[in-house]
Amino acid sequence: MTVPEMFGENVFNLDVMREKLPKDVFKSLKKTIDEGKPLDSSIAGAVAHAMKEWAISKGATHYTHWFQPMTGVTAEKHDSFISPTQDGKIIMEFSGKELVVGEPDASSFPSGGVRATFEARGYTAWDPTSYAFIKEGTLYIPTAFYSYTGEVLDKKAPLLKSMEALNKQALRILRLFGNTTAKRVVSTVGPEQEYFLIDQKMFDARKDLIYTGRTLFGAKPPKGQELEDHYFGAIKTRVSEFMHDLDQELWKLGILAKTKHNEVAPAQHELAPIFSVTNVACDHNQLMMETMKKVAARHGMYCLLHEKPFAGINGSGKHNNWSMSTDTGVNLLDPGSTPAENGQFILFLVAVIKAVDDYQDLLRLSVASAGNDHRLGANEAPPAIVSIFLGEELSEVLEALDHDVKYEGKGRQMMKLGVDTLPDLPQDTTDRNRTSPFAFTGNKFEFRMLGSTFSIAGPNIIINTMVADTLREFADELEKAEDFNAGLHDLVVRVYREHKRIIFNGNNYTDEWKEEAARRGLLNLKNTAEALPHFSDKKNIALFEREGVFTEREVTSRTEIMLDNYAKVLAIEGLTMIEMAKEDIYPSVNAYISDLCDLIEKKSKLGVPAAAEEELVKKLSAANEAMYFKANEIDKLLIEAKESANAEAAAKFFAEKVIPVMQELRAYADEMELSTAKKYWPFPTYGEILFSV
Ligand code: ADP
Ligand code: MG
Repeated sequence: MTVPEMFGENVFNLDVMREKLPKDVFKSLKKTIDEGKPLDSSIAGAVAHAMKEWAISKGATHYTHWFQPMTGVTAEKHDSFISPTQDGKIIMEFSGKELVVGEPDASSFPSGGVRATFEARGYTAWDPTSYAFIKEGTLYIPTAFYSYTGEVLDKKAPLLKSMEALNKQALRILRLFGNTTAKRVVSTVGPEQEYFLIDQKMFDARKDLIYTGRTLFGAKPPKGQELEDHYFGAIKTRVSEFMHDLDQELWKLGILAKTKHNEVAPAQHELAPIFSVTNVACDHNQLMMETMKKVAARHGMYCLLHEKPFAGINGSGKHNNWSMSTDTGVNLLDPGSTPAENGQFILFLVAVIKAVDDYQDLLRLSVASAGNDHRLGANEAPPAIVSIFLGEELSEVLEALDHDVKYEGKGRQMMKLGVDTLPDLPQDTTDRNRTSPFAFTGNKFEFRMLGSTFSIAGPNIIINTMVADTLREFADELEKAEDFNAGLHDLVVRVYREHKRIIFNGNNYTDEWKEEAARRGLLNLKNTAEALPHFSDKKNIALFEREGVFTEREVTSRTEIMLDNYAKVLAIEGLTMIEMAKEDIYPSVNAYISDLCDLIEKKSKLGVPAAAEEELVKKLSAANEAMYFKANEIDKLLIEAKESANAEAAAKFFAEKVIPVMQELRAYADEMELSTAKKYWPFPTYGEILFSV
């Protein structure tokens, strides 16, 4: 089968719809998909029937409403199509109602108090803008998840709402520029996904990987990433076979898997798809992560998606390439070539600049998690301070506007917005600033702070909403302007002046930047416990309510869920650490010490010196004992953490009290690893894991 034949083979996409649905039904459904119009309920039955027939012809026996609860991963409950008949046989049935609404038992999903268990009903509602698909004998129907009282309980519904908010405000702006034809504006995302592949046997031998997804112990191997020989290096056969299989699986699901390569760290790789409409990109990224794990297992490997599987080795992120596009395919962050296009581009650009400056806190907390805390600010990922990279040329253009002077760069003159033409901006991507958290890359912004495990829904809800709200302000002002071009010019200059502190084109990894950012008054929310509570700040709740994305109750419950998750992850790490320290490392090192003592005794009988053994025994005994007592200390702290007054206090307690002791415990263990004979050490070392494939 050729790739074009294979592509989307398991997807109920437009081609299949056109072929299988009655003409009028297809037309109505297509309108819903293209224009975000509400679904005409009278067509649900016909669509369900066609979907079922198609699914059965592809070997499916079940269907599921596929949803994205606050756990960050997807959820599914499969029902078969079977329905008994009077004569004791069965037929395959699937009704319009079953397609449109589902009622999974929702009592065990995190809701942050929105839904008490006694009113556990949760509903799933079909999202017709993301195609249904077949996977392993089941028809998957992408849905949003909400409670009996209407509060959203998932990441999908608010994402769709944020896209709608953006659509509404961006269209107002386009109309001001005389665009009367665009019917819809969508945000687009291309998420680049990093991951590690290790041998399954290595994974099975480490409790920390099994329970927490990352190593809690491990001394630095003699060779890590310092030679930089892995980045873009030749791909090993086993990995290449995995990537080949993965591509095929993803293509069948209609996922535009495009670029694959080795990353910086040993055993680290990346897969980037071609961008798509944000809610589809979100569904596809979830499927991509899940498929990576499944395909790796088929190849005897384990795919680690954690942000920081190995200390001292680069962690994994996810770059969220974001832009806005009209239904006619015009990228609104593309500078264009006419004065009107240029003016419009600059307006959308300063909208993003203002939004990022006004909502630094939201962007920061949208990427906050226990796992990502190991990366942000650790000189391998952007710092915890949010800023924008614009590049030299674009910065000069805006500076020239600000100073009301003609832009003379590269011999060109500038410019009255809406009247003059922008100079050519370099499309060359080679000198891109890789340290920037939010970089303009020619025709899109790349938000680089996401951790590799993240659902991209969270960060994109924030980006869509804050940009929508800024465009609302702009449209309010410009719709009243007497002279549009003059009004546009004034607004752009004023907004740029007020918000240019967020622009930084230099190296984000330096200490000078931290100081400079503090002088500029930019936020530096160092960890998750510090960042998350800002979600419920008054100005943020007001933003979400204005744009119809979250209610106050939804914001506060989400804050609680995320804080709680942070504390839970750290508690699991603490408990795993105690178990490994006491049950594995402590007895193993003691066994080695005991053998050394026997040896010392034997040697002394022969009158042979045993200085090395004696030194080792002293050193290991001291470290092993210290580690043991640190484990007790963590134990006590975990009990104390349970008494925290609320989720925020608990998160703070973990960040300030528990993490430092975990680091101390680890230091003793890692030191012992380097002095303990190989055959005694209870689990595989970094060297063994990282070079296992
Ligand atoms: P890079 O040099 O970073 O690899 P690419 O142009 O290859 O740059 O793009 C990286 C990612 O950005 C890809 O997933 C790509 O599809 C995505 N991308 C490109 N254009 C857009 C856009 N207009 N909106 C969203 N994502 C985009
Ligand atoms: Mg990139």
